[in-house]
Amino acid sequence: MKLRLISVILAILSLSGCGWFGYHEPLDIADNKLPYWLKLNARTTDELNLVVIHATELSDMAEAREYGERILYESGTGASGHYYIDRDGSIEQYVPDNRIANHTSGWNSRSLSIELVNKGRYPDWYKSDHQVMLEPYPKAQINALIKLVRELESKYPSLKYVQGHEDLDTRMMPAEDNPNIEIHRKLDPGPYFPWARFLAAINLKKEMPPKDE
Ligand SMILES: [Zn+2]
Repeated sequence: MKLRLISVILAILSLSGCGWFGYHEPLDIADNKLPYWLKLNARTTDELNLVVIHATELSDMAEAREYGERILYESGTGASGHYYIDRDGSIEQYVPDNRIANHTSGWNSRSLSIELVNKGRYPDWYKSDHQVMLEPYPKAQINALIKLVRELESKYPSLKYVQGHEDLDTRMMPAEDNPNIEIHRKLDPGPYFPWARFLAAINLKKEMPPKDE
C-alpha cells in the first residue's frame, strides 16, 4: 500500500515536473503592439533566418516606445524592433513575429530584432566627441535575452544567424559638429555586449546572413 502511494506521488511529480522546477515555464512577454503594426508588411515565420541585437540608445523604455511610435514613412509606419528588453529583464513585444519591422537596413525581411534598453551614445549620437557606448548591460537583461533567443530558436527552427546591428550596418557618415570627421552610423550593441557568454548559451551562429533581395 505504502509503495503504491509512493509511486503515485512520484508519477504526479514527474508529470508536473516541468512546471514544478520552472524548466519550461513560458517567458513572460508583455504584448504591447505599436499602433501601426497592421500596416507593416506580413510574412510567414518559416522564412525567418536571423536575429539582430540592438541597443535602443535612449534613456529608458518609455522613450523607446515614443520613438517606436513615430511615423517616419509614407506607409504610416516607423522604425522599431520586435522585442524590447528593459534593464531589469522585463520583455515587451512591439511587433508580432509575422510582420516585417524596420530596424536594420538591408536585413529586415527575414529577421527578428531584439532591442536592449541602453543609453549608448544618447543623446549626442552623432557628435564627434561622443562616439563611445558608455552603459554596461545588466545581468538580468542578458539572462532575459538568452531565454528569449532560446525560446525563438525552438519556435522557429529556420533561425540560423545572430548579428549585432553594428556588424550589419557599417556605413559611415559625417559627424554633426564636424563634417570632416567620419563616424559610424550604428555602434549597437557595442563593446559592452557579452558576445562570448551569449553565443555559448544559444545555438545561433554569428555569421554573415544573406541580404534582403
Ligand atoms: Zn540598432
